[in-house]
Amino acid sequence: STVSASAPETKPLTVVGGGLVGSLLALYLAQQGHTVDVYERRPDPRRSGNVEGRSINLALSDRGWRALRGVGIEEAVREVAIPLYRRVMHDQRGQLTMQPYGHDGQAIYSVSRAGLNQRLLDLVDREPRVKVLFDQQCRRVDLRNRTLEMFDGAAETSHVIPYQHLFGTDGAYSSVRAAMQKTDRFNYSQHYLNYGYKELTIAAGDAGSWAIEKNTLHIWPRGQYMMIALPNLDGSFNCTLFFPYEGPYSFATLQTPEQVRRFFEEVFSDAVPLMPELEQEFFENPTSSLVTVRCYPWSVTDEVLLLGDASHAIVPFYGQGMNAGFEDCTILQQLMESHGSDWLAIFQEFQQQRKPNADAMADLAVYNFEEMRDRVADPRFLLQKKIESKISAQYPQHWLPLYSQVTFSHLPYAEAWANGQAQERIMQRVMPRIQSEADYDLPEVQALIAQELAQRQ
Ligand code: FAD
Repeated sequence: STVSASAPETKPLTVVGGGLVGSLLALYLAQQGHTVDVYERRPDPRRSGNVEGRSINLALSDRGWRALRGVGIEEAVREVAIPLYRRVMHDQRGQLTMQPYGHDGQAIYSVSRAGLNQRLLDLVDREPRVKVLFDQQCRRVDLRNRTLEMFDGAAETSHVIPYQHLFGTDGAYSSVRAAMQKTDRFNYSQHYLNYGYKELTIAAGDAGSWAIEKNTLHIWPRGQYMMIALPNLDGSFNCTLFFPYEGPYSFATLQTPEQVRRFFEEVFSDAVPLMPELEQEFFENPTSSLVTVRCYPWSVTDEVLLLGDASHAIVPFYGQGMNAGFEDCTILQQLMESHGSDWLAIFQEFQQQRKPNADAMADLAVYNFEEMRDRVADPRFLLQKKIESKISAQYPQHWLPLYSQVTFSHLPYAEAWANGQAQERIMQRVMPRIQSEADYDLPEVQALIAQELAQRQ
């Protein structure tokens, strides 16, 4: 490559939003030799003292790890991550069933959102090319004049900042995207589920032990709603109740502490004794909504690019939102390697490559909601999963379960989704012949599977 094409920018690049994706992106841009200014609405979470009392955690998987590895932070995060090797389903009477996530040793990882963000910011601090400006809320983006109106929360004043190349990583309600929405031929949709979610806590056991199995994602599937729990390092679990806004069992019908307790005792009987602050948390913690945002294009010439939730916010049921945003950084890095500072080429290729995958991931996330709240409680479904893992073990070159393609591979999401749907069609033909795990070895079943796989080639 020529020197001029890959020379770093003389003026700093501008990043709006210093959350998970924005801070990782800044590290990637700096690694290419650019200087970067990051504007973050909130005060510095490491200094503000008002650190969130509740610990909210996220599932980090292979795509996210790869992106962290690219800036040398993988090991530091692994130290504070808890591997989850399987799902454990709790039925109404407290009976447990398990389902491994992958083969032996494969896991998704529970990490604290605040802890991860702080680690990324610490790393950013050590990078002299990056400057993070906190308490800076972007109020308006003037695409024509290439300026930002920034509100300084500490000084309570606004100021105007010019940009040359702007990266919008300011999340699902992005201010950068809001400006693009007013331009011609910009496609945009947002879709809310009729479900909200509420964060609750399972308390730590004696001496900081875990009251239920630690290295596990716990699910209480109940058909029209569900609760999940991920472990924290201190022995507690962060629970999330996904629950309809309206209807017979809904946020609308649980109005008093007595109603909440009665309901939980009935449907989450084994969890309630471990949730000493249930009623208080239920009424003090907010009920938050669940949105899917799709838009296109993600760029304005060589001047603006959206990444992370700003371009593709998805519902959380596949545990992939952050992973997808981190993968955005990996893809951008590859394009910067091949195109140097030709931002027009980088932005164009980025959105063309990434958009179909973001759309597929959005569909997968909704699909997994139905699976988690409903199908994982069905013995036939669990039998199907067992049969599938047998097929995968017998034909490792030809069959990888959909969950593994999404979670433990770097296959583009759109390909994973297409493969998964093709495999599901085969399962629909195989399962009617199967009553138990042992039936997998029946000659007719073996022949059918071999035939189906041959046809797929
Ligand atoms: P955000 O994390 O939203 O960060 C945006 C940043 O921009 C924030 O710091 C914000 O303060 C700042 N900002 C916003 N507006 C402005 C402005 N106008 N000016 C300046 N700064 C601004 N993903 C997973 O991979 N695994 C999971 O298990 C998982 N679980 C989830 C569970 C729930 C309940 C939810 C809601 C999401 C979950 N996600 C998960 C998704 C994940 O949280 C997001 O995909 C991820 O946070 C996106 O990162 P981001 O940096 O793009 O946006």
